[in-house]
Amino acid sequence: MSKFFSDLAKGLKPYVPGEQPKDKKYIKLNTNENPYPPSPRVIKAIRDAANSDLRLYPDPECDDLRQTVAECYGLDKKQVFVGNGSDEVLAFCFGAFFAGKKILFPDITYSFYPVYANLYGVAYEAVPLNENFEIIKEDYYKKNGGIVIPNPNAPTSRYLDIEKIEDIIKSNKDSVVIVDEAYIDFGGESCISLINKYPNLLVIHTLSKSRSLAGLRIGFAFGSEELMDGLNRVKNSFNSYTIDRIALAGASEALKDSTYFEETRKRIIETRDKTMEALKALNFEIIDSKANFIFISHKAFEAQILFQKLRERGILVRYFNKPRINNFLRVTIGTDIEMETFIKVLNNILVE
Ligand code: PMP
Repeated sequence: MSKFFSDLAKGLKPYVPGEQPKDKKYIKLNTNENPYPPSPRVIKAIRDAANSDLRLYPDPECDDLRQTVAECYGLDKKQVFVGNGSDEVLAFCFGAFFAGKKILFPDITYSFYPVYANLYGVAYEAVPLNENFEIIKEDYYKKNGGIVIPNPNAPTSRYLDIEKIEDIIKSNKDSVVIVDEAYIDFGGESCISLINKYPNLLVIHTLSKSRSLAGLRIGFAFGSEELMDGLNRVKNSFNSYTIDRIALAGASEALKDSTYFEETRKRIIETRDKTMEALKALNFEIIDSKANFIFISHKAFEAQILFQKLRERGILVRYFNKPRINNFLRVTIGTDIEMETFIKVLNNILVE
């Protein structure tokens, strides 16, 4: 390791994102992106923003966007925080609420949580999911300095009923409970409705998945004014202008175009359900999904080998070589045509 690195940099264990290949064109089902383009209204807003005052700094408070978001979800603007992707929002959360404490999150979950914990000196206990990859709410009643629950969970795609989440929030009034709802628009019920009831609840959203804007980098935290203050303290000690003028303009339009949003998310849910049926016919075991991806395994074929064979044939999915999930593939839901090709290629591999 370089002698120039600080002790902090030496101790980091960075996150490894899914592949963004440049060697050839793949059917890309590996990073939970949306197969449909963003709303045409977003593109127009971005064009207009590019032609306006880019020589000026953007609004550091993101006031207009926060107002749009607040109206969209029936919140007050003061209950909304905007970040450069929900990854940045999560990083600020770890800094604002968890540094120096010991937190709980599931053993199988989004792999950025342990990375942020390491960066901010947060101790954590990885609480095991049960054998069906379910979160057991009672496991989160023990003493803790904070909780992170992704709902639906990633990479399992499993959803936890909002009543159970509410029990966890209620039982932890002295800790911040983060509910990461990156995939909530694909069939789950959001905890945003609980925000006015619980000042310790923080809900995280992103425009990367259901609004087709992974490339624009916009994420949100929703919660009590007290928690928003904490996030702003960290953000304004880091960078006042995390959101550029183009992203601000595009994000507002994405939220306003509810017709386009409803249409594309419905299409993804329908394609997911069709894909699951086709995979069951090929004897795959599939966790019940409420996300824009599925988590699948086959008793007779090793996931790692399937992953490699799919890749050779131009289809990218995600494989995690980790305990408990090393015989699973995470497959993002693409268009109908992409998923039909995926099933056809997979079938050929199985009968080879
Ligand atoms: N939370 C979860 C559970 C995710 O899977 C992702 C996507 N990798 C994120 C947060 C971050 O998404 P983004 O930074 O694109 O908003």
